[in-house]
Amino acid sequence: MPNVLVINAGSSSIKYQLIDPLAEHRLASGVIERIGEDRGALRHRSGDDEIERALRIADHRAGFAALTEAFADAGLPLDRLDVAVVGHRVVQGGSEFLAPTLVDDTVAARIAALSELAPLHNPGHHQAIVAARAAFPGVPHVAVFDTAFHQSMPESAYTYAIDTATARAHGVRRYGFHGISHEVVSRRAARLLGRPVRELRQVVLHLGNGASVCAVDRGRSIDTSMGMTPLEGLVMGTRSGDIDPGALLHLSRAGIDADALDELLNKRSGLLGLAGSNDMRDVRAAALGGDPAARLALSVYVRRIRHYLGAYLLELGGADAVVFTAGVGENNAWLRGEVCAELGWFGIEIDPSRNDDPADGARIISSDDSRVAVLVVPTDEEAEIARQSWALVSAPR
Ligand code: ADP
Repeated sequence: MPNVLVINAGSSSIKYQLIDPLAEHRLASGVIERIGEDRGALRHRSGDDEIERALRIADHRAGFAALTEAFADAGLPLDRLDVAVVGHRVVQGGSEFLAPTLVDDTVAARIAALSELAPLHNPGHHQAIVAARAAFPGVPHVAVFDTAFHQSMPESAYTYAIDTATARAHGVRRYGFHGISHEVVSRRAARLLGRPVRELRQVVLHLGNGASVCAVDRGRSIDTSMGMTPLEGLVMGTRSGDIDPGALLHLSRAGIDADALDELLNKRSGLLGLAGSNDMRDVRAAALGGDPAARLALSVYVRRIRHYLGAYLLELGGADAVVFTAGVGENNAWLRGEVCAELGWFGIEIDPSRNDDPADGARIISSDDSRVAVLVVPTDEEAEIARQSWALVSAPR
């Protein structure tokens, strides 16, 4: 059986999973943290076995050596596991990467060059790709991009109305993110409904710490709420989502410089900025206890989701399914109820007992009379990276 080693790396961490793409089965997973610091850590799990060790990991290359050693120590050495391909998650693929791509030196250099658009993500991806290609030289490496699924957006959806020459010179346009999640969730939603994805219009709500909405028209993204960066759109754990660009000019003239604005909007806003915690469970508990700031935070959060849901129902010309996924979407029945409240006019009606059922697989939560199916579908970005990577290298040429 061929297996895919899926890598999701940052500048100081490597998360990995070994997945059988045909059975959609996870054989092992782990995380290496604090690369480059004095006190690094590795956690590796396969089956019921777990290895935890504290060790100094100088760089990504040392990280892959530690990973290989962990597999061997767990009794499943990688050279006996038929690793057929290494699949790398890459956040920013710009306008040029439309699909999963076989990594060669040129592709690796392009991913590094796109760091300009994703300074927090692409440098770490590039370091990991270089190290992984050295560690596993005998197998193909595939880059799977978070932006690629949204490359099907029409020009009118990805264009910001600013001076065209300035926008072009600086790559200022909407790219959209969470594409790997929106793609796997919309495919699995179709599977649950027993219909081909190419027949369905879906609004997918990915509500985790990061959050975005996607209008998926017959399997293709036609609009999404994140933009040039993962900051636009919904209220998130610590990110503001939509804000008048004039407010940023105002703050900048008041002496808050670009780095401080970056920190404010990415790390001190969203639920955290409004209610003091980025964890939806805390905010909900505080609201139930009567905390006015938490109540306001939840109202703003829900209103923004409904704003996009309404817009995408119009863009799609109606919908066959509304799909909730990620930490909040999968687990918070109250929030799902609020988002879908009084939408009978649109043919959207939740069944309260189905919604409250704490099951954890993919499930339908709408009433039998609801014209639009409302679903909860767990996301699995690693399985999708494995599927796409394997599909690329196993396709007949
Ligand atoms: P990330 O974007 O970091 O992957 P997740 O998808 O894990 O984030 O989502 C994190 C959010 O999901 C947090 O706000 C957390 O409160 C919420 N969440 C996770 N599990 C539950 C749960 N069992 N009940 C309610 N909310 C949950």
